[in-house]
Amino acid sequence: MVAVVYWFRKALRLHDNPALIAAAEGASSLYPVYCLDPKTCSRARGAWTNPNRMRFLLESLADLDASLRKLNSRLIVLHGDPVEALPAACKEWSASRLAYELDYEQYSLRRDKAVRSQAEQAGLEVVTRVGHTLVDPEALLLLSRGAPVTSYDKFRGLLAQELKARPVTTLPPPASLPPPGRTAAPHAIPSLEELGLEPMGDAAVIARGGEGAALRAMEAHLRRRDWIASFEKPKTSPTEMLAGGPFDAGAGRSTTVLSPYLTFGCLSSRLLYERVAAVYAEAAPRHSQPPVSLHGQLLWREFYVCCMHATPNYRRMAGNPICRQISWGEDAALVAAWREGRTGYPWIDAAMTQLRREGWIHHLARHAVACFLTRGDLWQSWETGAAVFEEYLLDADEAINFGNWMWLSCSCFFYQYFRCYSPVAFPQKYDKQGAYVRHWLPQLARLPAKYIYEPWKAPIAVQKEAGCIIGVDYPKPIVDHQAAAA
Ligand SMILES: Cc1cc2nc3c(=O)[nH]c(=O)nc-3n(C[C@H](O)[C@H](O)[C@H](O)COP(=O)(O)OP(=O)(O)OC[C@H]3O[C@@H](n4cnc5c(N)ncnc54)[C@H](O)[C@@H]3O)c2cc1C
Repeated sequence: MVAVVYWFRKALRLHDNPALIAAAEGASSLYPVYCLDPKTCSRARGAWTNPNRMRFLLESLADLDASLRKLNSRLIVLHGDPVEALPAACKEWSASRLAYELDYEQYSLRRDKAVRSQAEQAGLEVVTRVGHTLVDPEALLLLSRGAPVTSYDKFRGLLAQELKARPVTTLPPPASLPPPGRTAAPHAIPSLEELGLEPMGDAAVIARGGEGAALRAMEAHLRRRDWIASFEKPKTSPTEMLAGGPFDAGAGRSTTVLSPYLTFGCLSSRLLYERVAAVYAEAAPRHSQPPVSLHGQLLWREFYVCCMHATPNYRRMAGNPICRQISWGEDAALVAAWREGRTGYPWIDAAMTQLRREGWIHHLARHAVACFLTRGDLWQSWETGAAVFEEYLLDADEAINFGNWMWLSCSCFFYQYFRCYSPVAFPQKYDKQGAYVRHWLPQLARLPAKYIYEPWKAPIAVQKEAGCIIGVDYPKPIVDHQAAAA
């Protein structure tokens, strides 16, 4: 009799889940568990206080539970620190094997080391597999002789070498799973309210959680074959509005908005890579190429994960060997105004409002607000900005988030610090009438297009006519962009 505990963390899916398949091999009973960790769910740490992301997680768990039930299994939800809850569960169920997918984020590495050590001391076999990325970051580390690779082109060379040796393959979902044995407690999925969080309402829903929704969204995009084949970023629009849109449909979006699914592992990056490759094969030889193509975007993801894996103190400036040391300012009032969308620059404030409401903003909007907070205007540390993004983003991913913040602040990867985004001219390229600003900042809705990105320039009569007095109904700019960026 082999009783196995399979620990879901990311990879909230049945398709292409190598660790789950390995867990089930030769097992007579399999306990699929998810552990709601107070360090990642409680108000104290901040990261999981976000009801939007918690909603996404709970929806993903419900979807996973439904899929497991079709295989005569079910999801068992544990509460508590996994370092205590998992060994206790393994003991209660007399498990002889613990299996999980590897995760290279900083907190996960510390947690997993402690869990593994406890499990091994208790005599359990610990089985792990790579599943979050196209390749094993350890293999890339060997190829780069342990050094972080900070050039995308050099990374592509190493990745190509690794992919030649071990091409991307995906696994189908299991046709059956060993049943779990009896458990003492019910271990049901809690509601948001039971976790002490207030639901945000449907207007804030940009993506429903779960493997089912992820696969439907991917399939909808794959039907747009010409769009997939010719996809080029940054040639996409940061001001399009998605709120309340058909989040499963895919059609019409300027990028895929699959990032929450990839972050939580509701969608395998290898499956997406493989399916996009099939579209390219049909379109051959005419399709876009990395770094701008859709494959190129997945390679950026891979690039940051591998870079993080090779870099000590990746989340910080101090002690981080790839990060430029810069004497950033420390002005809590400026950071609060940026975070709360009160900078007086409508484009920045609208994007930060969308971020707080929906937990997602377009890549170029991320560029604009990150540049504004750091080298562009406010001269505040990228670490502060990354922490705010980590709190609000549905797709918050340590490697991608902290890496992109280093990029945007010219701390690593990119050093053209003189190329700053204008908070006035840049959004005009995409949205002359300011529909995006009007949607997210309704107090500016009646302002003429001429002043929508610079409302402080509107004569007082125009402000009165629009019902928005600058300095009263909407803030004056907290910084003079021309002077700050000069
Ligand atoms: C300051 C800043 C912080 C960011 N933080 C995150 C984060 O925490 N999590 C996150 O997933 N992305 C992050 N990004 C990268 C990028 O903005 C998002 O991945 C993208 O906007 C998600 O939308 P999409 O799924 O429609 O992307 P698409 O353009 O459709 O791309 C498909 C997938 O490729 C990956 N990808 C795309 N662009 C990048 C990129 N530049 N770097 C790495 N991977 C990429 C994502 O997994 C994405 O879902 C950040 C970018 C910036 C500038």
